[in-house]
Amino acid sequence: MLPTFPEMLSQLVAEPSVSSTSPDIDRSNLRVIEHLANWLHGLGFRTEIMPLPNRPDKANLIATLGAEINDGMGGLVLAGHTDTVPFDAALWQSDPFTVKDQQDRYYGLGSCDMKGFFPVALEAAATFTKQQLSAPLTIVATSDEESSMAGGRYLLECGKPKADYAIIGEPTAMQPIFAHKGISMMTIKLAGASGHSSDPSLGANALDAMHRVMSELICLREELATDTQNDAFAVNVPTMNLGCMRAGDNPNRICGHAELQIDLRLLPGMDSEQIHATLEQRIKDAVQHSGISLELQTAYPPIPPFQSDPDGALLHSLSQLSGNKPGTVAFGTEAHFMQTLGMETVVWGPGSIEQAHQPNEYLDKAQLAPATQTLRHVIQRFCTS
Ligand SMILES: [Zn+2]
Repeated sequence: MLPTFPEMLSQLVAEPSVSSTSPDIDRSNLRVIEHLANWLHGLGFRTEIMPLPNRPDKANLIATLGAEINDGMGGLVLAGHTDTVPFDAALWQSDPFTVKDQQDRYYGLGSCDMKGFFPVALEAAATFTKQQLSAPLTIVATSDEESSMAGGRYLLECGKPKADYAIIGEPTAMQPIFAHKGISMMTIKLAGASGHSSDPSLGANALDAMHRVMSELICLREELATDTQNDAFAVNVPTMNLGCMRAGDNPNRICGHAELQIDLRLLPGMDSEQIHATLEQRIKDAVQHSGISLELQTAYPPIPPFQSDPDGALLHSLSQLSGNKPGTVAFGTEAHFMQTLGMETVVWGPGSIEQAHQPNEYLDKAQLAPATQTLRHVIQRFCTS
């Protein structure tokens, strides 16, 4: 027997599972994984907890119903991440780890993005536990989606799960999403030599060098936007934001160090690796022979762009069942990993991204019954004959 929706949501939200590149606030996701594994085991799923390499405090879960069919091939994956972003307790009106059931909303950290997807998926799956499936139904829960995507990357490394179709249950207000841009963020650090401002030959000015780097970046941005457009996106070109710069200390000192942070968002079909290599080369060229040393840092590897078949069977089904036209979004997901594993992948789930990553995050109750119903139909279509 599955606990009720509010019970499941409350237990998942009550387990802190913040993921962050800052180790002091990063938390284990194991308790969330264990709750899901227990419930799914109770429904008759075969469960596999996959600890991440060298991270015994982090794990993915793969749970399969009807795994004996086709040796686990074919069928449908319902996937989500178990971690949340960090939170600012002072801005919350209630305890982020206690689900507050108020009128038409469930408040709580991760309620919308995206712990709430799991009880929806489990309730839909529970309908099929007494039934013979013709293709397996797999539920996947990952770690670290909000920070490094280490969970998704590890799935890809292990070559599983294998299926024909995957739904990533991110909050899209039940609009099926077939494409998103890739995202990478990097820091460019230049170190020169400071000295008295009256004689430039006494040092190497990092701010002067950064000016050349920025000009080069803006040129590259224009070239990328000229080369590639995609009208499925509200912003139809790849973007590069020069977001933050810190440099120097005093007007009468040669600037000894400068640091720039950029955000690059590439369109589907663009060669992310090649563009990153070009970017790096052009930054190197801009500072060479200037007595400046260069360091390039990425907080984590880039999220590649994602685009699935606009005529795909799953996309069509989700569009028809939810009554929402296929679209694109501006945020990154784990879709690329599932797609690379060979699945037609669509991002679709209850809740709105507008409530994600916010204080007082909530899940809109009105979307839950339709979301569960849609998933039931999709499971019916792709896992039963
Ligand atoms: Zn998310």
